[in-house]
Amino acid sequence: MNTAEIIPLKSRPRIYARPDHAISRKFISENALKVLYRLDKAGFKAFLVGGSVRDLLLGRAPNDFDVATDALPEQVRELFRNCRLIGRRFRLAHVQFGNELIEVATFRAAHDETDGAAMTDAGRILRDNVYGSLDDDVWRRDFTVNALYYDISDFSIVDYVGGVEDLNAGRLRLIGDPEVRYREDPVRMLRAVRFAIKLGFELDAVTFAPIARLRHLLEDIAPARLFDEMLKLFHGGMGRKTFDALRAHGVFRCLCPLTDAALEGQDGEFVLRLITAALDNTDLRISEGRPVTPAFLFAALLWQNVEDAAQANIANGVPHPEAMQLAADTVISKQVARIAMPRRFTNVTREIWALQSRLIKRTAKRAPRLMEYPRFRAAYDFLLLRAQAGDPVGEAAEWWTSFIGADDTSRLQLLESTATDSRPKRRRRRRRPAGDTQASG
Ligand code: ATP
Ligand code: MG
Repeated sequence: MNTAEIIPLKSRPRIYARPDHAISRKFISENALKVLYRLDKAGFKAFLVGGSVRDLLLGRAPNDFDVATDALPEQVRELFRNCRLIGRRFRLAHVQFGNELIEVATFRAAHDETDGAAMTDAGRILRDNVYGSLDDDVWRRDFTVNALYYDISDFSIVDYVGGVEDLNAGRLRLIGDPEVRYREDPVRMLRAVRFAIKLGFELDAVTFAPIARLRHLLEDIAPARLFDEMLKLFHGGMGRKTFDALRAHGVFRCLCPLTDAALEGQDGEFVLRLITAALDNTDLRISEGRPVTPAFLFAALLWQNVEDAAQANIANGVPHPEAMQLAADTVISKQVARIAMPRRFTNVTREIWALQSRLIKRTAKRAPRLMEYPRFRAAYDFLLLRAQAGDPVGEAAEWWTSFIGADDTSRLQLLESTATDSRPKRRRRRRRPAGDTQASG
């Protein structure tokens, strides 16, 4: 059966009164409550909506709080001094409290499907800026569990799409016909994978089946938007599992075609171990509340490509540092055409790569100075990952670990015993590290 038949358009909503659900105002941010109450007092409808309602019902802490209202953006602005209107495609009100942002969106209606001007030939939505009522707004949302509205006027939950039942059953289901909804906005395919992993939900076959057929549509998405999505995919705390799922659904290669080629290439097992180790490392840091940068992940995703390109340059007679620099230019410019990683990050990626050979050389004279480099730590962490994944750089990695941990006297001893150049002259074949259990195949 098709999902479109399960959810009749314009049905009556199911209302869960306050005693029938577990959302307590205790867990809603004070600022979100302030916005909701002020809209309500001014005579507007005001609902908490989207991921915050979903997460609160699941007993999780929401990332952010989004509000939906029948007040027009200009009317919202009149109510809040700390409010800015943003967006060209559709106007949203951003109400800023310190570093917490509450997004207030006016109810919108889906475009009439016969209005060809708002769609591309492939069915992608270009504009959806027609205001509507709550029972219009609900149908343009993506998944049933993301389309629940918490009404501040009586603390009830309004559910048009069976979202509460799906939530309880651990089911991720698109509203409407999945094929149509993916064509309207192919990013929903990424969101499907991300939410399934994040929420630990079962992959609803009707929702996931069309992805294999439609994933190529992701290639038309603006690279800047894909960068935002990439951060959500890989910096959400479950990057490793999300990566596995993206590959399983065949969408990873639409995001990172170079990496995908490397994964399929002769060093594919190494590439998989390196990326997996980078993602495990990122997930761990996030769980410990430590900072992460997409530059590090990019360094891992593209390392094999940059190394291959550098080797090719060297074979063509380009001297080593330039060979690496040129390779980095080529590889990064190809990848940012797909995912627009800002330059402030790609610059860090380049530095991590450029420092690799210098860390391996570790001449006695330069070692202490290398440690002063702003990217030393990231480059050292990356060297450790390479060693862990089976690159023959274990000796250098261990040397730096001892050097960093040593006091001045031991450092001097280490420096005296250091050969001037321990870089392997030829490329050695990689071996799978002993005891490694993460490698596939
Ligand atoms: P999280 O913030 O935890 O990643 P979220 O569900 O809040 O998840 P947001 O990207 O913050 O996701 O979007 C808020 C809400 O807006 C969603 O819950 C959904 O209702 C709607 N929405 C967002 N993106 C889309 C989309 N591409 N298509 C349809 N609806 C969307
Ligand atoms: Mg959100």
